[in-house]
Amino acid sequence: MRLALIAHDEQKETLIDFAREYTDTLSTHDLLATGTTGKRLNEETDLTVERKSSGPLGGDMQIGAEVVNGDCHGIVFLRDPLTAQPHEPDISALLRICDVHDVPLATNPTSASYLVEGIGLGE
Ligand code: PGA
Repeated sequence: MRLALIAHDEQKETLIDFAREYTDTLSTHDLLATGTTGKRLNEETDLTVERKSSGPLGGDMQIGAEVVNGDCHGIVFLRDPLTAQPHEPDISALLRICDVHDVPLATNPTSASYLVEGIGLGE
């Protein structure tokens, strides 16, 4: 399975903690991330993550394109619910395209843990 990891700035620390907690499971999958999230994951965890562009520069859309192509099978996207993001339209597009293609997307740590624990079960 190929999983995408994305976190807004206020949530990056939470995502790093999550990735450390789920390293064993996550490392069995092909991982990709938006630019800054991926940089931090590569530097601060034992995971190896393919980096797309930074979110505000189109990284969310690159991940969305993978969803469209059937190449990305799940997304953990820890969003900052309190701060408006400059690339809000791209984020909404990513959420929509996941619904179009029935790709699971988790936006908080608890649903992310369910996603990561469940993603391999259907294989
Ligand atoms: P970033 O992008 O990982 O490059 O910060 C995340 C986002 O804001 O979508």
